[in-house]
Amino acid sequence: MPRRTLLCTLVSLHATAAFLLFKKDTTNFTPRQATRREFFGPMVSGALLPLPSQAADNYPYKTCVAQVANCYKNAVTNAELVSKVYAALQPYGYGPDTLVATSLCSDEVNRPLEESFYNYFGSHFTLGGLAGFPFGGLSGFMAMISHIPDTNGSCLVVYGPHVGISTDGQIGKLQRRGQRQLGTCCGSAIAAAQYARAVYRGNAAPVRNTMVTVLDAQQAYVASTLLPYAAQIEQALDPMVELPYALFQPMDDMMLQIVTRADVDSNTRIAMLGGIQINTPVGLSDYFLPLRFDVRDNQGNLIENLMWRRTPGPRRKVPLSA
Ligand SMILES: [Zn+2]
Repeated sequence: MPRRTLLCTLVSLHATAAFLLFKKDTTNFTPRQATRREFFGPMVSGALLPLPSQAADNYPYKTCVAQVANCYKNAVTNAELVSKVYAALQPYGYGPDTLVATSLCSDEVNRPLEESFYNYFGSHFTLGGLAGFPFGGLSGFMAMISHIPDTNGSCLVVYGPHVGISTDGQIGKLQRRGQRQLGTCCGSAIAAAQYARAVYRGNAAPVRNTMVTVLDAQQAYVASTLLPYAAQIEQALDPMVELPYALFQPMDDMMLQIVTRADVDSNTRIAMLGGIQINTPVGLSDYFLPLRFDVRDNQGNLIENLMWRRTPGPRRKVPLSA
């Protein structure tokens, strides 16, 4: 057997074995056998501790991984996130009859997270647009709801902004596939932040019409929505680290409003997983920092908060006023 074929076979067998092991674990799972701390302990304590090989001086992603841990403490790899979320939602009947809806930026670097969820729940419904805002809105959400399997299925909404970290640890930068130069990531968010900071400093006038032109309506919305958060970004120790935290707030508010206002069948559960997607160089897993993870009823009322501890934001030059 050619070496490449043998390698592919071994990788495939390893992946299959890992999946079967996972299936075995979750099949035996009962909600009362494990505390929430046991579910999420690894998500918030030590999940980013480098493996011995990652600690080696010649590990190429050492600086990048250190920056993830430093700037987005408690972030976990995509694979770990998805397996934890799957296990945590099983008591609520999540599984084959679950429909995943995502609201992540259009940037192709965010597709791997959706593919990770695909392995557990199948194809997803797309609500998101530039920067990750749920531009599909109420109509998009209602369309998604109407696609949930008839057997009392439920939905899982995965949403949030994203930020790139380059191999040498630069926040907001990423070397994309096939490109020599680093690019901005998230480009939409960074362009919006440049505008918002210019307005905050008095170097630019705020644009009144948020839908300046249908040709660039999404970016106009992102820039306008970020304006109230300009001070928060300016006062941060590192504005690029702060930017996704700032963006998450209006995004989270928008998603909560959609979930609350939507007309959803009484048997349907709505799980919300919001946070920051952290894109890393090719060859290293992406990470996700969960900032909201809960289950809600058909009217958007909270059933259970599945986050056992809130993640603190980054340090700031000046504490934000209440
Ligand atoms: Zn983006």
